Amino acid sequence: MEDRIVLRNVMKLTGEAIDFVIDQGILVEIVEPGQGEGAVIDCTGMYVCSGWIDLHVHAFPELEPYGDEVDEIGVKQGVTTIVDAGSTGANRIDELLASAREAKTNVLAFLNISRIGLERVDELSNPAWIDRQAVRDAVSTYDDFIVGLKARMSRSVVGESGLEPLQVARELSVETGKPLMVHIGSGPPDIEEIVPLLEANDVITHYLNGKKNNLFNDNMKPLSVLCDALARGVQLDVGHGTASFSFKVAEAAREHGIQFNTISTDMYRGNRIGGPVYSMANLLTKFLTLGYSLQEVIDGVTVNPARWLGKPELAHIKVGEPANVTLFSVQDQEVTLIDSEGEERVSTKTITAEGVFARGEYIKC
Ligand code: ZN
Ligand code: ZN
Repeated sequence: MEDRIVLRNVMKLTGEAIDFVIDQGILVEIVEPGQGEGAVIDCTGMYVCSGWIDLHVHAFPELEPYGDEVDEIGVKQGVTTIVDAGSTGANRIDELLASAREAKTNVLAFLNISRIGLERVDELSNPAWIDRQAVRDAVSTYDDFIVGLKARMSRSVVGESGLEPLQVARELSVETGKPLMVHIGSGPPDIEEIVPLLEANDVITHYLNGKKNNLFNDNMKPLSVLCDALARGVQLDVGHGTASFSFKVAEAAREHGIQFNTISTDMYRGNRIGGPVYSMANLLTKFLTLGYSLQEVIDGVTVNPARWLGKPELAHIKVGEPANVTLFSVQDQEVTLIDSEGEERVSTKTITAEGVFARGEYIKC
């Protein structure tokens, strides 16, 4: 491939068409459509934005059920940066980093506070697996790679340990300076006890889950612990996953103005191939159907996660910087969408990931 390529006739979200000229991976020019010179990739009809970021995936391939290949859930989804959500703990975070270095997708990670990570699905049920010193050591060794600490606070994960793992996670967060991502699901522990322990910049993932013990009461109104948490600066992440996204809850949340910070898939092999996640584009289509604007939806996978990560450059499109962009289309095409409860909605528009330019390379989705 030539060193100099032109993404011809791409559209900004405003609808304005332009040519992107990229030379040896660097965005060198943004010019009028048709004016760019180099090897042309015709992008007519495609939108361009900074590379999508998925804040919650499972990228350690050998783990079952929560594992997948990095590039399958990354660049092939139109996602140039993924954040592994605690697939590994201190025991194997080095292996996750090593495999990430082989991939075309940029990878960051939450460290599971359990040193065994998702080698078992009840990783917080035995206090011996929560090794505080191992967490501190891992964070200091892999400070650039680890963006936060992960604790899965549901009955099947914590067993008889109750709130204890979250209390330890809170202390470790203070010690290491890394925020928490907390998974919520079926209790105990009770959601009313979990949420008050979260602080500014901590992330609640699966905030639209339709299980009992979720963030909304029987009348589908947001719990006061949720409203208080949002006022403190706690962040909301989608984390769709196999079992954690309900259209009914999402509709109630929107009605009450409870908006996502980040739209993430919680993707792994099973829910990618067999649904109900399928793809990042399918998830973004769900949010369009809920009534959010295209700009709000795209912000949920670009500027919002970049800001939370403290890496605003991931959402830059600037001449002179490495090109990190996603190309996607929005078609007037009906598609039936399915949530984790088996509920369906029909969308009149479909988002499709078309390609990415990342790490010096154009990759078609
Ligand atoms: Zn989870
Ligand atoms: Zn997950």
